[in-house]
Amino acid sequence: MKTVYLDNNATTQPAPEVIEAMMPYFTERWGNPSSMHAFGGNVARDVAHARESLADFIHAERPEEIIIEGCATEADNHALFGITAAWDRPGTIITSRVEHPAILGPCLRLRELGHTVVEIGVDGEGNLDMAAYEEALANAQGPKLVSIMWANNETGVIFPMYDIATKAKAAGAIVHTDAVQAAGKIELDVSNVPVDLLSIAGHKMHAPKGIGMLYVRRGTRLKPFTIGGHQERGRRGGTENVPYIVGFAKACELAKASHAAGDDRRMAALRDKLEAGLLATCPDSRVNGNRLQRVPNTLNISFEYIEGESVLYHLSDFGICASSGSACAAGSLEPSHVIRAMGVPFTAVHGSIRFSLSRYTTEEEIDYVLQHCPEVVAKMRAMSPFVKH
Ligand code: PLP
Repeated sequence: MKTVYLDNNATTQPAPEVIEAMMPYFTERWGNPSSMHAFGGNVARDVAHARESLADFIHAERPEEIIIEGCATEADNHALFGITAAWDRPGTIITSRVEHPAILGPCLRLRELGHTVVEIGVDGEGNLDMAAYEEALANAQGPKLVSIMWANNETGVIFPMYDIATKAKAAGAIVHTDAVQAAGKIELDVSNVPVDLLSIAGHKMHAPKGIGMLYVRRGTRLKPFTIGGHQERGRRGGTENVPYIVGFAKACELAKASHAAGDDRRMAALRDKLEAGLLATCPDSRVNGNRLQRVPNTLNISFEYIEGESVLYHLSDFGICASSGSACAAGSLEPSHVIRAMGVPFTAVHGSIRFSLSRYTTEEEIDYVLQHCPEVVAKMRAMSPFVKH
């Protein structure tokens, strides 16, 4: 059976060019970049080049502003705990209600440590409540940190990061953004958008899992996360994962080339075709999220009166991979916190499905989903206790 992979917000296929770039670092160039001899020194040079590509990808001023991390969760944790640990008194962290657990989890811990955490809500289309955000900035006590995602992993909704960061800076706050779902989909330019810290994961943009980075603008006070060796300028000790760093840098170079070649527009056109096709063939379906402010690869759609998970299982029988935001809690399926924060009606909350494309997605694959998804939805509806038969 063929596989149609439309779950690229969960993880992406490592690009063949990325694997090719990594291989020599397993077989020939496996030295330690910290060694004094040339065998290690050559590798250190390759890591330095890779760091330049990572910096270039987000238009950072200097490569030293990039800390290589083990994943985006680590980068997010480093940002939140590293900034607040440098404070001399409890402060205020302003975040959003629709962040990934990699932010919401650390925020819970920071609250336990005595800081104030303010979560800003969203409207029915997933847009950030900017009035509440400005009010939170104005009322914040002590040192301030804003941590708001650039794009949402479930709906793809893009937050106005320039506005968010500019307002935060005017209020004297440090700004972090989790840009994991924006990277490789829209331009990230820290020379224009005044964020102080930014997290990215390699595996959401065709590098392997287990590599991420944290951008830290020069002059930002950040405590180390792992204390040990001198690596990453003492901010994250541990021998560098050279093959993954080189692969991540290659993925960033490929993402730039893909953007220049217009892949984003092609992806958006396929996503729009999928959206229009499903809305036309599946009655009582609705798109979740602002359709005009979305990353080009994401479609979050609710099929009312049925469970998203049953749709996923049946799509999987056709080799179609998608996802739902629901999490299994205490033996029952909890609807996603993002969809709930948007106030999506009860009848649609459980039936939300996320399709997320990549630059490798083809029109034939979209046609295949359009051929099978409506029959799956119709079959589930025929069995639903919420539908009048
Ligand atoms: N932040 C966002 C917005 C994400 O979507 C994810 C992964 O889904 C993460 C952080 C965490 O990434 P990782 O699992 O690579 O640590």
